[in-house]
Amino acid sequence: MTGNNTERIDLARAHSARVYDFILGGKDNYTADRAAAEAALTAWPGLKTSMRINREVMHRMAHWLATEAQVKQFLDIGTGIPTAPNLHQVVQAVTPSASVVYVDNDPIVLAHARALLTGTPEGRTAYIEADMREPDKILTAPDLHQTLDLSQPVGLTIIAVLQFVEDASGLIERLLEPLAPGSYLALTLATADLAPESIELAATYTRRGIPMYLRSRSEVEQLFAGLDMVEPGVVPMHHWRPDPREAVSEATTVNMYAGVGRKA
Ligand code: SAH
Repeated sequence: MTGNNTERIDLARAHSARVYDFILGGKDNYTADRAAAEAALTAWPGLKTSMRINREVMHRMAHWLATEAQVKQFLDIGTGIPTAPNLHQVVQAVTPSASVVYVDNDPIVLAHARALLTGTPEGRTAYIEADMREPDKILTAPDLHQTLDLSQPVGLTIIAVLQFVEDASGLIERLLEPLAPGSYLALTLATADLAPESIELAATYTRRGIPMYLRSRSEVEQLFAGLDMVEPGVVPMHHWRPDPREAVSEATTVNMYAGVGRKA
């Protein structure tokens, strides 16, 4: 971490990475983040369970991509403050030589990037500080090209991020464009379809300077336009290929959809 980077961390305003960190029980958050988290949890107490389920879904998707789809390279946008296991740990447990490029625009995530860069000796990880609303900055970053071979399939994972982005479909199209056939897009993102309190929840984020955009199921399906959907399609995230050994309670409600699509 550089001194400059520490100075860039804005403590007065809540940041999505730190609100998420607080709700997941982490220590990298400040008063503004905790206040935003408390407002969000007041709007919908189920958020805490939903965020934990989101991490589990990320693990299942990464594991599925590494095993069933045999993907060996990953581009993870909106990585968040490290929470073990991170994506590279999941995929390198399957394929020790797997390569992962992490991207986030929050300086606090950059400050922790070292924890994201300690993979297997055979594998490679890199971290790019970039805003996904500037996809060309990601696509032209030397670290991307030094770490991933874009002539081979890549798993593009954008997990619990797109609710913070207005034009998701244009960005996804741009990010998928240079990826080889056989690449995958894996998403989780917030909707109002599943938990009715999501609208008030989103309003608490927006009021605290983190604009949140909710999407319907058909809007989420449109983000996979041109891709072949992997079964079971776009579903409430705890229904995305659940581990049969871990029973999901019927009473569980989440606020996010999950889906994976393949570029032909
Ligand atoms: N993917 C992780 C973290 C999700 S929290 C997980 O699912 O566990 C959302 C993350 O997206 C935060 O770290 C936040 O800093 C990042 N983020 C939000 N908007 C972004 C943007 N425009 N560009 C890059 N990262 C962004």
